[in-house]
Amino acid sequence: MTDKTNAPVGGKLTAVKGMNDVLPPQSATVEWLEAKVRQLMARYAYRNIRTPIVERTPLFVRGLGEVTDIVEKEMYCFEDRLNGDPLTLRPEATAGVVRAAIEHNLLYDGGKRLYYIGPMFRHERPQKGRYRQFDQIGAEALGFGGADVDAELILMASALWAEIGLSDVRLEINSLGQPAERLAHRQALIAHFEQHQGALDEDARRRLYSNPLRILDSKNPTMQTIVNAAPKLLDFLGEASLAHFETLQSILRASAVAYSVNPRLVRGMDYYNLTVFEFVTDRLGAQGTVCAGGRYDYLFEQLGGKPAPAVGWALGVDRVLELVKAGNQPVALPMLDAYAIVTDSAAMPTVLPILQRLRALGVSIQMHTSSNGDMGSMKSQFKRADASGARFALIFGPDEMAAEQVTIKPLRDASTQQISQPLADLAQWAPTLQLLL
Ligand code: ATP
Ligand code: MG
Repeated sequence: MTDKTNAPVGGKLTAVKGMNDVLPPQSATVEWLEAKVRQLMARYAYRNIRTPIVERTPLFVRGLGEVTDIVEKEMYCFEDRLNGDPLTLRPEATAGVVRAAIEHNLLYDGGKRLYYIGPMFRHERPQKGRYRQFDQIGAEALGFGGADVDAELILMASALWAEIGLSDVRLEINSLGQPAERLAHRQALIAHFEQHQGALDEDARRRLYSNPLRILDSKNPTMQTIVNAAPKLLDFLGEASLAHFETLQSILRASAVAYSVNPRLVRGMDYYNLTVFEFVTDRLGAQGTVCAGGRYDYLFEQLGGKPAPAVGWALGVDRVLELVKAGNQPVALPMLDAYAIVTDSAAMPTVLPILQRLRALGVSIQMHTSSNGDMGSMKSQFKRADASGARFALIFGPDEMAAEQVTIKPLRDASTQQISQPLADLAQWAPTLQLLL
């Protein structure tokens, strides 16, 4: 008998390709980053939003654009089993956030600053820094049209790099202007590439009339010359667009945030206008973009809402953590306060309630457990206590149990004496233990 993957029943089951388990202790670094992000978001007054992982497929087709890589070939789509509704595992979260904002009329009393943390799904070829399920952290400022908010978001990302000790990410910015400006540029772009049809690769030929802007994003080395010679969108921007871009740059300069203008920077989704930006690094090989975003003033309308300007960014958690690792940045990992050594399993009804009360006071304790009632020797328990990284052993041995006491033995600090305390006086000694910790 076989299941759908043709694996023999009872055979080894593995995770889906490109979807990874995150195991301890590495999972602690993810939690560390998430904690930093939550603190940071609070300081900038961004509030958490949680939208579903599954959305209706038309949300992404309408939101991201039909001829984008994501919609054309990267989405996990399926039909609702009950009614055949086309559904999709979210490849990104901005469309869902805007859908939620429209659905719940979130902007009724003004703009909202939001952030999210969660998994996204894209059917890509798995490689380092590119997975089929990956976590993104994103920030979205909805209902704000000024370049000051673009700057705030960029400053917030810069603050995050400083906070987690990353120094080698550089900022590239560009302006995609407004739709009418883009249209004029698009015509010039098509004319330019038509003159060089022979030099276009297959992707570029396919995009020539559907999405010529994306050809600028090509990494194909043989096309670099004609791409570099292509008309620049910046040259087609009107006064208002240029002023928006200049305001952003003046705030970045005043804030001493280094940046470069990259006229070839376009983004993979169609919803962007005016400001776009990327934080890139040379340390991660081909997958060098760690954080990317921009303004999307027309997405609300496109998704059926009242027009509202908006801007946001998303970062790839894996790529950021890869950089943290490459920089040998010390990451504060969870510490264990105590390891409870229990020599006789008959003592458990006494020990567990005591540990419960200590934990309620905030002491973290790993308890030695029996295998079928056999607790193992005191020596083997001490070995485990040592390996656990705990700072103290709480010893519930035969002498202690007879005297109704616990011995508190420092494991890392030889200069501190071990002490014994009556179990009944927990209320008195527990605070001391906290002080010791
Ligand atoms: P790329 O050019 O690398 O494909 P993208 O333009 O598709 O990136 P966005 O959709 O803007 O990326 O997503 C923002 C960030 O999310 C990226 O900069 C990257 O750090 C991360 N990211 C995107 N796709 C993946 C993936 N398949 N695996 C891991 N991280 C990803
Ligand atoms: Mg991509």
